[in-house]
Amino acid sequence: MSHDTAAALLARMNAGETTSEEIVASLLDRAGRDQRLNVFVHLDADRILEQARDVDRRRRAGEPLGPLAGVPVAIKDVLCVQGEPTTCGSRMLKGFRPPYDATVIARLRAADAILFGKTNMDEFAMGSSTENSAYGPTLNPWDESRVPGGSSGGSAAAVAAGLAPLSLGSDTGGSIRQPAAVCGVVGLKPTYGRVSRYGLIAFASSLDQVGPFAHDLADTALLLKVISGHDPRYSTSVDAPVPDYAATLDKPPESLRIGVVREFFGEGLDPEVGAAVQEAVKVYEKAGATIKEVSLPHSRYGVPAYYIVAPAECSSNLARYDGTTYGHRAEDYSAKYPGEEKIADMVRMMMVSRAEGFGPEVKRRIMLGTFALSAGYADQYYNKALQVRRKIRGDFDAAFREVDVLIGPTSPTPAFKLGERTANTLSMYLSDIDTITANLAGIPGLSIPCGLTRANLPIGLQLLAAPFAEETLLRTARVFERQTDWHTRRPGTR
Ligand code: GLN
Repeated sequence: MSHDTAAALLARMNAGETTSEEIVASLLDRAGRDQRLNVFVHLDADRILEQARDVDRRRRAGEPLGPLAGVPVAIKDVLCVQGEPTTCGSRMLKGFRPPYDATVIARLRAADAILFGKTNMDEFAMGSSTENSAYGPTLNPWDESRVPGGSSGGSAAAVAAGLAPLSLGSDTGGSIRQPAAVCGVVGLKPTYGRVSRYGLIAFASSLDQVGPFAHDLADTALLLKVISGHDPRYSTSVDAPVPDYAATLDKPPESLRIGVVREFFGEGLDPEVGAAVQEAVKVYEKAGATIKEVSLPHSRYGVPAYYIVAPAECSSNLARYDGTTYGHRAEDYSAKYPGEEKIADMVRMMMVSRAEGFGPEVKRRIMLGTFALSAGYADQYYNKALQVRRKIRGDFDAAFREVDVLIGPTSPTPAFKLGERTANTLSMYLSDIDTITANLAGIPGLSIPCGLTRANLPIGLQLLAAPFAEETLLRTARVFERQTDWHTRRPGTR
């Protein structure tokens, strides 16, 4: 049952053929045997079994159950789960147990899902490979010498490895879509504001969104519906009705105008990825779509603008971790640096705590952001980046007047080798060249499996749509999924 979809598991539970307890017990057993993948940073078997038994008991009693009753959902370690370790992949938050649930977690509980462990991630969601985790990297289930993408690498690998049928991740610049692509699963970043960020540990507040990973679109639609919607506790969550994504998924889109983004086929694109995406375009052509080449001229400024905006927001969001109220506190901060005799003990405590608690990539972002925001530079960098951001959104607005959905590669390359990009920061940052603009513009993006390389590595097709057009995105993607079987491929098979 390890690679079953949530829909299949629900059907079997409803038919009385299996129980949630049986499902989670078998997954826990697998997780125990697959530890080398380093998918989970926290997995409390007793708590999981207890939740499953409770749902089973209520199912037997004929009580009304939520839409995910008994289905395990793995949770990226960036989301607060009351009373459970929540560390954001960082030493800084070691031992932190939030006093409350994130809204998406409360919604999973209300849907009777089983919270199935916390998954590994790049520290504070900064990275594209899950190598920036204080717990060490997660391995890609398709090829254990390669990364699973990031920053939600643990959540993508959990689904790909069949350790959970569903998972949640967060996407600030591509952290759901890129790992989904390189792990051969579906991943969706909703429109900014579609899903509440309450209880999502902030990286860059104007870009962060929570979203689902799944084997296929039906499961994605199901989980998206559960987590979406207005949250009075979060002012940026939008008060707009949430469609029943699963119910409309199989309705062919009324209009199928597809734009192929020229800029996504530029330098750095792996030829096998490019070829797979061109094949996908042909599938759409055959299905009767109107195909058009579309240009997003400002997308080339996406990565530079992102690396001003995201670090700027991160430097202020992460200022709270100073060892006083939040975060790791150094045990010994007595050592005086040369020339620092005049620094007050409390300030020295903060300095040493932050030096010990944060890893090198997080420190780099804090320094970049602090610099970009500093007096005299804000106009040159931050305000400039905001102007670029508006231009990028303008490009998308213009494109969506002509087409319903834009397509291109999710990641310019398949999964890269562990260590391959760690020494070259720019090459790591370029992993998100095709995903970052959707975050800057706030629009929804989806990655679906669309091929395998000769080396049997998954390739992802990215689909982008106008704000709050998740339904269009899913239905358009479904046209492709129905014609192909890439979403049924699993690691270890060809
Ligand atoms: N890889 C990008 C970064 O490092 C995006 C991360 C994300 O989406 N959380 O910032």
